[in-house]
Amino acid sequence: MQKLRDGLTETVLYGNELTWHPCTAMAENAEDRERVLQSLNFQSFRRLLFGLLKLGNLCNAIKSKSFIDADSDYECIMYGDFPLAINFSLIFEPGILFLKDVIGRRVEGKMDYEKRALQKLEDYVKEMDYHAGCLRKVLFETEQRPRKDLTEGEVAVTLTEHLLGKLAPGDSYVDDGKTRGKGQCLCGCNESPKYRSTGIGHEDVWHGFIDILFSSHTRIPESIATVTETLSPSTSPLDSETKDEDSPDEETISEDAKGSEDQAIAQTIVFSLLKRQNYPSCQHHLIPNIVITPTEFRVNMYDAMNDILLSSLSLKLFDPKFESLQIESVIILWMVLHYRIFCAGIKVNELKEEFKKIDIQANFRKIAESKWDIYSKSLKENLSHFPEEKKKNPISYDTYWRAKELTYG
Ligand SMILES: [Zn+2]
Repeated sequence: MQKLRDGLTETVLYGNELTWHPCTAMAENAEDRERVLQSLNFQSFRRLLFGLLKLGNLCNAIKSKSFIDADSDYECIMYGDFPLAINFSLIFEPGILFLKDVIGRRVEGKMDYEKRALQKLEDYVKEMDYHAGCLRKVLFETEQRPRKDLTEGEVAVTLTEHLLGKLAPGDSYVDDGKTRGKGQCLCGCNESPKYRSTGIGHEDVWHGFIDILFSSHTRIPESIATVTETLSPSTSPLDSETKDEDSPDEETISEDAKGSEDQAIAQTIVFSLLKRQNYPSCQHHLIPNIVITPTEFRVNMYDAMNDILLSSLSLKLFDPKFESLQIESVIILWMVLHYRIFCAGIKVNELKEEFKKIDIQANFRKIAESKWDIYSKSLKENLSHFPEEKKKNPISYDTYWRAKELTYG
């Protein structure tokens, strides 16, 4: 497991293959923007892995649980001694090819929606230094403002205004229940996002509010983000197999961090099932949830058709030396938010024979079997509150108690 994680975070994010200096970060014109893209090392994308996860018997998806109380009891699916993973560049191959075409100036014949997506990236790259400054101002801890003074809602607003919302294809909506006063971004830009009731799910199963909802340019809900405080490598789902072997001296996993991983997984699954329920004819049903903190993120994806659950390694948002945004992180976020164009889903039928024999399913369908009617037909969206949980009938053996007695034949 260690091999897997080090391979990514150390080399991709801190290695020498892709250096990103502030003086080149400001892309004033098309040539500069092109230079930014030219500097990309495509090997970096090949090192981003998604672990395949399986849910366990303690998963409480059939109970009436808010996302905050969700327990997914996840663990990595293993292949011998190694966790089974899938490469970003395999499932996002159309995005990688598109980017190569853009860099090679082969943009003739591209569709309008592809050009719109590219424009989003170009516009963002042009202002990337400005946005990095705004993010730093709010999200970086200072003596005047310790990070703990920020609410998740305030973090969500800044990440929406200066990163995710700028890269997304359409509108972005922040949960209106979590943000004090539905305020403006704290950086001083005077911008405020759109707010909306973001409740999804069903009161009899997993349900609750999502932090940020992204729509397509035609206003169809497309993907979500979960804002959380920490995403330490020790809480990565990819590490779940090794966490018990940690020495007692090592930092223990906080209940909060574990809880937010569970919460994010439940939100990923419910949103993907909701999409499948409402838009059954989509090309594929591998839907992302960006799980993001003030400094890093990972991408969860759930394929509601094939019951496959993925969780990526974590990536840093900022370059540790220059405090500018990591260009490859920005591009990965952009591709994930435009997954309708850039993600091909998981082609289970095209897997090599040796992988076809392995059960790569998350087991959610089986775990949720008794509530499958709800998960496949009755999920709700845009809710501002959920009905009270139905009270179970207490067992009271009074005089009028009626029951059917077992009898011997
Ligand atoms: Zn701002």
